[in-house]
Amino acid sequence: QAKAQGKARYQIFDTQMHHHAQQRLELDTDLRRALHREEFLLYYQPIISLATGRINGFEALLRWSHPQKGLISPGEFIPAAEETGLIIPIGLWVLKEACQQLKAWQNQALFKHPIKMSVNLSVKQFSQVNLIQNIDKIILQTQLNSSYLKLEITESAIMENPESATELLQQLRDREIQLSIDDFGTGYSSLSYLHRFPLHNLKIDRSFIHRISETRQNLEIIQAIITLAHHLNMTITAEGVETAEQLSLLRSLGCEEGQGYYFARPLEPNAAQALLLDNPHW
Ligand code: C2E
Ligand code: MG
Ligand code: MG
Ligand code: MG
Repeated sequence: QAKAQGKARYQIFDTQMHHHAQQRLELDTDLRRALHREEFLLYYQPIISLATGRINGFEALLRWSHPQKGLISPGEFIPAAEETGLIIPIGLWVLKEACQQLKAWQNQALFKHPIKMSVNLSVKQFSQVNLIQNIDKIILQTQLNSSYLKLEITESAIMENPESATELLQQLRDREIQLSIDDFGTGYSSLSYLHRFPLHNLKIDRSFIHRISETRQNLEIIQAIITLAHHLNMTITAEGVETAEQLSLLRSLGCEEGQGYYFARPLEPNAAQALLLDNPHW
Protein backbone atom coordinates (compact mmCIF):
# COMPACT_ATOMS: atom_id res chain seq x y z
CA GLN A 1 0.00 0.00 0.00
CA ALA A 2 2.81 2.34 0.89
CA LYS A 3 4.30 1.66 -2.49
CA ALA A 4 1.08 2.53 -4.28
CA GLN A 5 0.82 5.74 -2.27
CA GLY A 6 4.37 6.59 -3.07
CA LYS A 7 3.73 6.12 -6.73
CA ALA A 8 0.60 8.25 -6.64
CA ARG A 9 2.50 10.97 -4.86
CA TYR A 10 5.27 10.74 -7.40
CA GLN A 11 2.76 11.17 -10.18
CA ILE A 12 1.26 14.25 -8.58
CA PHE A 13 4.72 15.67 -8.12
CA ASP A 14 5.60 14.84 -11.70
CA THR A 15 2.45 16.51 -13.00
CA GLN A 16 3.20 19.61 -10.96
CA MET A 17 6.77 19.67 -12.22
CA HIS A 18 5.54 19.36 -15.73
CA HIS A 19 3.05 22.16 -15.20
CA HIS A 20 5.76 24.34 -13.72
CA ALA A 21 8.16 23.62 -16.59
CA GLN A 22 5.45 24.42 -19.09
CA GLN A 23 4.67 27.73 -17.37
CA ARG A 24 8.35 28.62 -17.41
CA LEU A 25 8.56 27.87 -21.09
CA GLU A 26 5.53 30.05 -21.79
CA LEU A 27 6.98 32.85 -19.70
CA ASP A 28 10.26 32.56 -21.56
CA THR A 29 8.55 32.76 -24.94
CA ASP A 30 6.47 35.69 -23.70
CA LEU A 31 9.54 37.53 -22.42
CA ARG A 32 11.38 37.12 -25.72
CA ARG A 33 8.37 38.51 -27.53
CA ALA A 34 8.10 41.35 -25.00
CA LEU A 35 11.66 42.43 -25.69
CA HIS A 36 11.00 42.28 -29.39
CA ARG A 37 7.73 44.22 -29.21
CA GLU A 38 9.08 46.72 -26.71
CA GLU A 39 6.59 45.92 -23.99
CA PHE A 40 8.98 46.88 -21.19
CA LEU A 41 8.93 50.25 -19.56
CA LEU A 42 10.61 52.00 -16.69
CA TYR A 43 9.06 53.62 -13.67
CA TYR A 44 11.09 56.12 -11.68
CA GLN A 45 11.09 56.49 -7.91
CA PRO A 46 12.70 59.60 -6.44
CA ILE A 47 15.55 59.38 -3.94
CA ILE A 48 15.51 62.28 -1.49
CA SER A 49 18.35 64.09 0.23
CA LEU A 50 17.42 64.11 3.91
CA ALA A 51 19.58 67.17 4.50
CA THR A 52 17.89 69.40 1.91
CA GLY A 53 14.58 67.57 1.42
CA ARG A 54 15.08 67.76 -2.36
CA ILE A 55 15.26 65.08 -5.04
CA ASN A 56 18.79 63.71 -5.43
CA GLY A 57 17.95 61.24 -8.13
CA PHE A 58 15.68 58.46 -9.32
CA GLU A 59 15.82 54.70 -9.29
CA ALA A 60 14.71 53.14 -12.57
CA LEU A 61 12.35 50.22 -11.89
CA LEU A 62 11.39 47.81 -14.62
CA ARG A 63 7.76 47.05 -15.52
CA TRP A 64 6.28 44.79 -18.18
CA SER A 65 3.18 46.02 -19.89
CA HIS A 66 1.70 42.68 -20.92
CA PRO A 67 -0.92 42.92 -23.70
CA GLN A 68 -3.36 40.63 -21.80
CA LYS A 69 -2.21 40.66 -18.18
CA GLY A 70 -1.51 44.38 -17.81
CA LEU A 71 1.36 45.81 -15.78
CA ILE A 72 3.62 43.13 -14.29
CA SER A 73 6.15 43.71 -11.49
CA PRO A 74 9.79 42.68 -11.84
CA GLY A 75 9.49 40.16 -9.02
CA GLU A 76 7.23 38.10 -11.28
CA PHE A 77 9.52 37.82 -14.27
CA ILE A 78 13.10 38.75 -13.39
CA PRO A 79 13.88 35.40 -11.73
CA ALA A 80 12.83 33.61 -14.93
CA ALA A 81 14.76 36.07 -17.10
CA GLU A 82 17.76 35.50 -14.87
CA GLU A 83 17.49 31.72 -15.32
CA THR A 84 17.27 31.82 -19.09
CA GLY A 85 19.85 34.56 -19.54
CA LEU A 86 17.29 36.92 -21.09
CA ILE A 87 18.12 39.32 -18.28
CA ILE A 88 21.22 40.29 -20.27
CA PRO A 89 19.43 41.93 -23.22
CA ILE A 90 16.62 43.18 -20.95
CA GLY A 91 19.17 44.71 -18.58
CA LEU A 92 20.95 46.46 -21.43
CA TRP A 93 17.64 47.88 -22.59
CA VAL A 94 16.99 49.18 -19.04
CA LEU A 95 20.41 50.78 -18.84
CA LYS A 96 20.07 52.54 -22.16
CA GLU A 97 16.50 53.68 -21.54
CA ALA A 98 17.37 55.07 -18.09
CA CYS A 99 20.44 56.92 -19.39
CA GLN A 100 18.42 58.32 -22.28
CA GLN A 101 15.69 59.51 -19.93
CA LEU A 102 18.08 61.33 -17.61
CA LYS A 103 19.85 62.89 -20.60
CA ALA A 104 16.50 64.12 -21.94
CA TRP A 105 15.62 65.67 -18.56
CA GLN A 106 19.04 67.31 -18.43
CA ASN A 107 18.58 68.70 -21.93
CA GLN A 108 15.25 70.20 -20.91
CA ALA A 109 16.94 71.78 -17.90
CA LEU A 110 14.21 70.58 -15.57
CA PHE A 111 16.34 70.96 -12.46
CA LYS A 112 19.09 73.18 -11.18
CA HIS A 113 21.18 70.78 -9.11
CA PRO A 114 22.54 67.54 -10.57
CA ILE A 115 20.21 64.54 -10.51
CA LYS A 116 21.46 60.96 -10.63
CA MET A 117 19.92 57.88 -12.20
CA SER A 118 20.17 54.55 -10.38
CA VAL A 119 19.92 51.30 -12.32
CA ASN A 120 19.71 47.79 -10.86
CA LEU A 121 22.14 45.15 -12.08
CA SER A 122 21.27 41.48 -11.65
CA VAL A 123 23.75 38.84 -10.51
CA LYS A 124 24.05 37.49 -14.03
CA GLN A 125 24.60 40.89 -15.60
CA PHE A 126 27.27 41.65 -13.07
CA SER A 127 29.18 38.49 -13.93
CA GLN A 128 28.89 39.00 -17.68
CA VAL A 129 32.29 39.42 -19.31
CA ASN A 130 31.50 42.35 -21.60
CA LEU A 131 29.54 44.40 -19.08
CA ILE A 132 32.10 47.22 -19.15
CA GLN A 133 32.18 47.39 -22.95
CA ASN A 134 28.39 47.45 -23.05
CA ILE A 135 28.23 50.23 -20.48
CA ASP A 136 30.85 52.24 -22.37
CA LYS A 137 28.82 51.83 -25.53
CA ILE A 138 25.61 53.03 -23.88
CA ILE A 139 27.38 56.02 -22.32
CA LEU A 140 28.72 56.91 -25.74
CA GLN A 141 25.36 56.46 -27.48
CA THR A 142 23.34 58.42 -24.94
CA GLN A 143 26.00 61.08 -24.29
CA LEU A 144 25.25 60.94 -20.58
CA ASN A 145 28.10 62.00 -18.33
CA SER A 146 28.88 58.74 -16.52
CA SER A 147 29.17 60.45 -13.12
CA TYR A 148 25.36 60.79 -13.15
CA LEU A 149 24.90 57.05 -13.46
CA LYS A 150 24.57 54.95 -10.33
CA LEU A 151 24.59 51.16 -10.39
CA GLU A 152 22.87 49.10 -7.70
CA ILE A 153 24.46 45.74 -7.03
CA THR A 154 23.43 43.17 -4.44
CA GLU A 155 25.73 41.58 -1.91
CA SER A 156 25.26 38.18 -3.52
CA ALA A 157 26.44 39.49 -6.91
CA ILE A 158 29.64 40.70 -5.27
CA MET A 159 30.19 37.70 -3.04
CA GLU A 160 29.77 35.20 -5.87
CA ASN A 161 33.25 36.07 -7.03
CA PRO A 162 34.84 38.70 -4.78
CA GLU A 163 38.10 38.94 -6.76
CA SER A 164 36.57 39.66 -10.15
CA ALA A 165 33.93 41.84 -8.50
CA THR A 166 36.62 44.05 -6.98
CA GLU A 167 38.25 44.46 -10.35
CA LEU A 168 34.97 45.23 -12.10
CA LEU A 169 33.90 47.71 -9.43
CA GLN A 170 37.24 49.47 -9.76
CA GLN A 171 36.81 49.72 -13.54
CA LEU A 172 33.37 51.25 -13.03
CA ARG A 173 34.71 53.60 -10.40
CA ASP A 174 37.46 54.71 -12.81
CA ARG A 175 34.64 55.90 -15.05
CA GLU A 176 33.17 57.88 -12.14
CA ILE A 177 30.11 55.67 -12.16
CA GLN A 178 28.54 55.65 -8.68
CA LEU A 179 28.27 52.27 -6.97
CA SER A 180 25.58 51.27 -4.49
CA ILE A 181 25.09 48.08 -2.60
CA ASP A 182 21.37 47.26 -2.76
CA ASP A 183 19.14 45.63 -0.12
CA PHE A 184 21.94 45.71 2.42
CA GLY A 185 21.36 43.36 5.32
CA THR A 186 19.35 40.74 3.45
CA GLY A 187 22.23 38.67 2.09
CA TYR A 188 24.78 36.77 4.10
CA SER A 189 26.19 40.17 4.82
CA SER A 190 28.98 40.50 7.21
CA LEU A 191 29.82 44.09 7.90
CA SER A 192 33.46 43.11 7.82
CA TYR A 193 33.77 42.54 4.09
CA LEU A 194 32.51 45.98 3.09
CA HIS A 195 35.86 47.77 3.25
CA ARG A 196 37.29 45.49 0.59
CA PHE A 197 35.09 46.85 -2.16
CA PRO A 198 35.23 50.31 -3.74
CA LEU A 199 31.60 51.30 -3.14
CA HIS A 200 30.11 54.77 -2.70
CA ASN A 201 26.72 54.12 -1.22
CA LEU A 202 24.86 51.58 0.86
CA LYS A 203 21.10 51.07 0.65
CA ILE A 204 19.69 49.67 3.89
CA ASP A 205 16.98 47.17 3.08
CA ARG A 206 13.45 48.26 3.80
CA SER A 207 12.88 45.41 6.29
CA PHE A 208 15.20 47.29 8.71
CA ILE A 209 13.47 50.61 8.14
CA HIS A 210 10.10 48.98 8.66
CA ARG A 211 11.13 47.86 12.16
CA ILE A 212 13.09 50.99 13.06
CA SER A 213 10.80 52.22 15.81
CA GLU A 214 9.80 48.80 17.16
CA THR A 215 12.62 48.32 19.62
CA ARG A 216 15.65 50.22 20.83
CA GLN A 217 17.77 47.39 19.36
CA ASN A 218 16.50 47.91 15.82
CA LEU A 219 17.41 51.54 15.99
CA GLU A 220 20.86 50.64 17.27
CA ILE A 221 21.44 48.18 14.44
CA ILE A 222 20.66 50.86 11.89
CA GLN A 223 22.83 53.30 13.81
CA ALA A 224 25.71 50.79 13.68
CA ILE A 225 25.34 50.27 9.93
CA ILE A 226 25.34 54.03 9.35
CA THR A 227 28.38 54.60 11.57
CA LEU A 228 30.34 51.84 9.86
CA ALA A 229 29.43 53.03 6.38
CA HIS A 230 30.50 56.55 7.26
CA HIS A 231 33.85 55.24 8.52
CA LEU A 232 34.26 53.60 5.12
CA ASN A 233 33.40 56.86 3.33
CA MET A 234 30.10 55.54 2.11
CA THR A 235 26.79 57.37 2.15
CA ILE A 236 23.56 55.73 3.28
CA THR A 237 20.20 55.48 1.57
CA ALA A 238 17.23 54.16 3.52
CA GLU A 239 14.82 52.08 1.43
CA GLY A 240 11.12 51.81 2.10
CA VAL A 241 10.56 55.00 4.09
CA GLU A 242 6.81 55.03 4.65
CA THR A 243 6.15 57.30 7.63
CA ALA A 244 7.09 60.73 8.96
CA GLU A 245 8.35 59.04 12.12
CA GLN A 246 10.78 56.85 10.17
CA LEU A 247 11.96 59.90 8.28
CA SER A 248 12.66 61.92 11.38
CA LEU A 249 14.50 59.01 13.08
CA LEU A 250 16.64 58.51 9.98
CA ARG A 251 17.42 62.21 9.85
CA SER A 252 18.49 62.17 13.48
CA LEU A 253 20.81 59.23 12.76
CA GLY A 254 22.59 61.15 10.01
CA CYS A 255 21.31 59.05 7.14
CA GLU A 256 21.93 60.93 3.87
CA GLU A 257 19.08 59.76 1.66
CA GLY A 258 15.65 58.21 1.76
CA GLN A 259 13.42 56.47 -0.73
CA GLY A 260 9.92 55.16 -0.21
CA TYR A 261 6.18 55.60 -0.45
CA TYR A 262 6.29 58.43 2.10
CA PHE A 263 7.92 60.57 -0.60
CA ALA A 264 6.55 58.99 -3.75
CA ARG A 265 5.80 55.64 -5.34
CA PRO A 266 7.60 54.60 -8.51
CA LEU A 267 6.19 56.93 -11.17
CA GLU A 268 5.57 56.80 -14.89
CA PRO A 269 8.08 58.91 -16.84
CA ASN A 270 5.63 61.80 -17.28
CA ALA A 271 4.71 61.86 -13.61
CA ALA A 272 8.38 61.72 -12.61
CA GLN A 273 9.07 64.63 -14.93
CA ALA A 274 6.17 66.59 -13.43
CA LEU A 275 7.56 65.93 -9.96
CA LEU A 276 10.96 67.26 -11.05
CA LEU A 277 9.36 70.41 -12.38
CA ASP A 278 7.36 70.78 -9.20
CA ASN A 279 10.63 70.60 -7.23
CA PRO A 280 9.02 69.42 -3.97
CA HIS A 281 10.62 69.80 -0.58
CA TRP A 282 10.21 67.30 2.25
P1 C2E B 1 14.91 47.15 -5.31
O1 C2E B 1 16.02 47.47 -6.23
O2 C2E B 1 15.23 47.01 -3.86
O3 C2E B 1 13.83 48.30 -5.56
C1 C2E B 1 13.00 48.82 -4.57
C2 C2E B 1 11.66 48.12 -4.54
O4 C2E B 1 10.97 48.54 -3.38
C3 C2E B 1 10.76 48.47 -5.72
O5 C2E B 1 9.94 47.36 -6.04
C4 C2E B 1 9.91 49.60 -5.13
O6 C2E B 1 8.66 49.75 -5.77
C5 C2E B 1 9.73 49.10 -3.73
N1 C2E B 1 9.46 50.19 -2.79
C6 C2E B 1 9.89 51.46 -2.84
N2 C2E B 1 9.47 52.17 -1.78
C7 C2E B 1 8.75 51.34 -1.03
C8 C2E B 1 8.02 51.50 0.22
O7 C2E B 1 7.98 52.56 0.84
N3 C2E B 1 7.39 50.39 0.71
C9 C2E B 1 7.42 49.20 0.05
N4 C2E B 1 6.75 48.18 0.59
N5 C2E B 1 8.08 49.02 -1.12
C10 C2E B 1 8.74 50.07 -1.65
P2 C2E B 1 9.77 46.83 -7.54
O8 C2E B 1 9.72 47.99 -8.49
O9 C2E B 1 8.65 45.85 -7.52
O10 C2E B 1 11.13 46.08 -7.79
C11 C2E B 1 11.45 44.94 -7.06
C12 C2E B 1 12.86 44.50 -7.32
O11 C2E B 1 13.03 44.07 -8.68
C13 C2E B 1 13.89 45.61 -7.14
O12 C2E B 1 14.18 45.79 -5.78
C14 C2E B 1 15.05 45.05 -7.93
O13 C2E B 1 15.75 44.11 -7.17
C15 C2E B 1 14.34 44.34 -9.06
N6 C2E B 1 14.37 45.19 -10.25
C16 C2E B 1 13.57 46.22 -10.60
N7 C2E B 1 13.93 46.75 -11.79
C17 C2E B 1 15.00 46.04 -12.21
C18 C2E B 1 15.86 46.10 -13.36
O14 C2E B 1 15.73 46.94 -14.25
N8 C2E B 1 16.86 45.18 -13.43
C19 C2E B 1 17.07 44.25 -12.45
N9 C2E B 1 18.07 43.37 -12.59
N10 C2E B 1 16.30 44.17 -11.35
C20 C2E B 1 15.28 45.06 -11.23
MG1 MG C 1 17.48 48.76 -6.31
MG1 MG D 1 16.77 47.86 -3.01
MG1 MG E 1 14.91 46.17 -1.30
